[in-house]
Amino acid sequence: MKESKSICEVCNKNESIGVAAVPMVPISVAFCKECMDVNAYPWWVLVANTAIIGGYEKCCKQWQEMVRDTCIHLGRDIQLFHEEVKEKIAILSLAMDKEKSRTDVEVQKEE
Ligand SMILES: [Zn+2]
Repeated sequence: MKESKSICEVCNKNESIGVAAVPMVPISVAFCKECMDVNAYPWWVLVANTAIIGGYEKCCKQWQEMVRDTCIHLGRDIQLFHEEVKEKIAILSLAMDKEKSRTDVEVQKEE
């Protein structure tokens, strides 16, 4: 059986040279040399984690640099990133509201 080659999860284009951890996020992804060299990370990881933190402004400098470097490398506008984060935050807060109302119901039942 031939060993399957994995594709870089950042650019989804080049063959990966290995798997590495994303700083500050408990996740490991496949990188190609090019993406690793320019400090680029998977778009969805950046969007999801920035949303969890509560927005780009609240992220530390290192994370903001990772976002900027990834935007440049993938040729995407940072405005697009901000929009996707905003959408994600809306989804997250919806999910949290749901969780909260569910807990409220459970508390009422116990009384
Ligand atoms: Zn790559």
